[in-house]
Amino acid sequence: MHKSTLLIASIFALAHFAFVAPFVPLANILPAGLGALSMSSMALSLTLAARWRPVDRIMGGPDKSYVAHRWLGFFALGGALGHWALASSVGAGVLPVLADSGEDFGTLAAIGLLVMTAAAVVRAIPYHLWKASHMLMGPIFVLAAYHTFFVASPLAVGAAPWTLMAVVSVVGLIAWIQTLLRKRSPTRLLTVSQVLPFEGGVDVTLDSDVPLPPYRPGQFATIAFNKARAEAHPFTIAGGNEWSRRFIVRAAGDWTDTFVRNVAEGDTFRLGRGVGRFLPQVHAARSAQLWVAGGVGITPFLAALEQMKPDEGAQVTLVYCTRNRASAGGIEDVERHAARLPQVHLVVLSDEDGSRLTKERLTQMVRSMPSKTQAYVCGPEGLQSLVTSAWKGAAMNSRVHSERFDFRGAYGLTEIVYIGKPVLEAARDWATRARNAPNASAGT
Ligand SMILES: Cc1cc2nc3c(=O)[nH]c(=O)nc-3n(C[C@H](O)[C@H](O)[C@H](O)COP(=O)(O)OP(=O)(O)OC[C@H]3O[C@@H](n4cnc5c(N)ncnc54)[C@H](O)[C@@H]3O)c2cc1C
Repeated sequence: MHKSTLLIASIFALAHFAFVAPFVPLANILPAGLGALSMSSMALSLTLAARWRPVDRIMGGPDKSYVAHRWLGFFALGGALGHWALASSVGAGVLPVLADSGEDFGTLAAIGLLVMTAAAVVRAIPYHLWKASHMLMGPIFVLAAYHTFFVASPLAVGAAPWTLMAVVSVVGLIAWIQTLLRKRSPTRLLTVSQVLPFEGGVDVTLDSDVPLPPYRPGQFATIAFNKARAEAHPFTIAGGNEWSRRFIVRAAGDWTDTFVRNVAEGDTFRLGRGVGRFLPQVHAARSAQLWVAGGVGITPFLAALEQMKPDEGAQVTLVYCTRNRASAGGIEDVERHAARLPQVHLVVLSDEDGSRLTKERLTQMVRSMPSKTQAYVCGPEGLQSLVTSAWKGAAMNSRVHSERFDFRGAYGLTEIVYIGKPVLEAARDWATRARNAPNASAGT
């Protein structure tokens, strides 16, 4: 987590304790502050999930909204569990007859939040099951709001924190209703006109009978099978015009496996509108660009190349990291565009012939670029951190724009090993030192 983000998060958390302190007895400041933190974190998390365009724009795109959404979820859970552990009833409550149910609903909300957050972080739970269950976060928020207003609490009706909780509850509720409505946002029916399989994936083009709204290179859209209540999955638009859309899809799980194995010309799919704020610069007045793609992460850059015209503008360096040529969907078109665009310098790397992208190699490339160069990376987590560290290593001060292909960010074995490894190593070192300690005293 960036230092600035950590600072904002700490101020956000501590502000809740400072805000309630003048309005509750000393003994209640901690539980009341934790409760307030949990409520506003949930409301903000619901607001980010509502995907209002201005909010997505402020956040820098849906994938960034989902990262903040996830962290606010952890704040909400931490606040709720701390509040649950420390809070005790004070007074009779605004409507004494509802005070007991207020308490019970609070407990239900805390348990619900715990279970839902656990389901969100365990990758073993299939995405579509988790996504369906995650919709219960709305009712859990309603239970927590009921608890906030009807439990026997030290907060006086109309006091500033009480009013804040009222505003937070209304905002959270409206955001949840927006999320429910968004699920009904119109999609368009398109027909598959071309299927180009490649190793581990498929390159498809879909045609529309009606003109499609324009999209910006880098944006993504959801694709769903043309049947009621079908699951919608996001894919970056890899190209297309007013009448067509191109996607390059890698088999990564149950839905994409089925799609890659079975998609055929004539099939129909429902397409969402183009969204997202990962927008590599394609206009001639652009600053110099570094584009780094890993595997299907080439899709936003392929769309950008397609919309570019030959110009004398600043150079675009595109580094395309592939496993091998057979699994590099769209590579022929990437090379064709690079050949027709003098402003584009293409570097294709392949694990198979050992030409992997290393930090040293990238740092060297970046060192030869103008200081105002803008960097865009789309690919797996490891590639993103490699580019970010090479960028910092070359003392470039502009930020690295990145797109995550995984909104959920759940933890599987790899993440747990990645997180757990340093802990295990520290424990092993400690055990070794402890084991050797008596010998040291025996030697003296
Ligand atoms: C902004 C964005 C752009 C993407 N662009 C491409 C692309 O151009 N080409 C491509 O091959 N893949 C792309 N992906 C990834 C693609 O959406 C997932 O691989 C696909 O949804 C996996 O679904 P599954 O059921 O096959 O796999 P699962 O086993 O269910 O999931 C595999 C991974 O995909 C994620 N995922 C699953 N379903 C969804 C969903 N509905 N929404 C978001 N994430 C999901 C899960 O968190 C999990 O990490 C993109 C993802 C995002 C978020």
